[in-house]
Amino acid sequence: METMRAYGVPPTPANFEIWYAQASSASAELSAALAAVFAEGGEWTEDTGAKLREAFFPLPNEAQALAAISQSLGAEIASIQKTVVQAGQHTQSYGNALEVVSGQMDRGVDGQTLTAVVHQLAAATRSMRARAETLENRLSVASTEIDGLRTKVETVRREARTDALTALANRKYFDERLTEAAAEAFETGKDLCIVMGDVDHFKMFNDTWGHQTGDQVLRLVASCFADNVKGRDTAARYGGEEFAVILPDTTLANARTLADQIRKHVQTKKVVKRSTGETMGSITISLGVASLLPGETPSELLRRADTCLYTAKRGGRNQVVTEDELAPRTTSAA
Ligand code: GH3
Ligand code: MG
Ligand code: MG
Repeated sequence: METMRAYGVPPTPANFEIWYAQASSASAELSAALAAVFAEGGEWTEDTGAKLREAFFPLPNEAQALAAISQSLGAEIASIQKTVVQAGQHTQSYGNALEVVSGQMDRGVDGQTLTAVVHQLAAATRSMRARAETLENRLSVASTEIDGLRTKVETVRREARTDALTALANRKYFDERLTEAAAEAFETGKDLCIVMGDVDHFKMFNDTWGHQTGDQVLRLVASCFADNVKGRDTAARYGGEEFAVILPDTTLANARTLADQIRKHVQTKKVVKRSTGETMGSITISLGVASLLPGETPSELLRRADTCLYTAKRGGRNQVVTEDELAPRTTSAA
């Protein structure tokens, strides 16, 4: 902090982050960049801080987008504030004009003065009305801009929980939803099931047909999941070629039915290479289904569903295994 003071760097949290890294010798590049700032009598400006932060402390995309929105919003509010202050000043000067006129009237006026006074009042009122209109327009523009920012925030929020390849929920959102759904299930005493699915022999498929075609298949499989879940269910891409579904208020038997429906749906899709029209055969998936036990954590539930999935793989793939079908020994081990 002494160094910051000596260099005239304002003690903001953002600047502090930079100088904290410098003080802990975090990066030789940062030290060099700081030395360059002050070389030949250079001074610290707001822009210096912003550039260094961009170079050495990049924010993740989502945070960056939100930071930009919050900056626009701040600018918008500052500009509205200025307009409102100006409007206040205008109202005051209108009030002053009225005071002056009222003083004149008190002193008694002849017809000629009265005419002049009325003209004066009319002019002041016209100018007041014009200013009120300006304020109204300014506020209406601001309101449109703020609506735009709100839409942007929505977009950023949606993107942050969506898997870019398949447009299903991503793992981050899945984990959040599962925590919520588990809490809800404990509260209401209702069943909660999850389905874990994994594409069979996908490595071989990628090796044979290429990664891009593999991506196309992942989109196809994702659409089978999306087409079979509805309402409060959440289908997500859990990882590379793994998918998962949260099924609130669903019994194990019904979850099994749904999982098998997805499995059959995937199997019926014919995969054709777009560029050549070659048929690449069909894709299959294996699925594991588990139901939340009293007091169980979401990660324990996931682990048990994963054990079922693993059993489905060992059992020959392209099948669904539910927790009640596991051998008792496996259940107690899980
Ligand atoms: P199994 O039936 O046992 O699941 O076999 P597998 O080959 O599907 O399983 P493995 O875990 O060995 O391989 C998974 C493969 O999934 C390897 C990886 O290249 C591929 N994969 C993971 N994520 C992506 C992705 O985003 N795109 C593509 N094209 N392939 C992916
Ligand atoms: Mg896998
Ligand atoms: Mg696989």
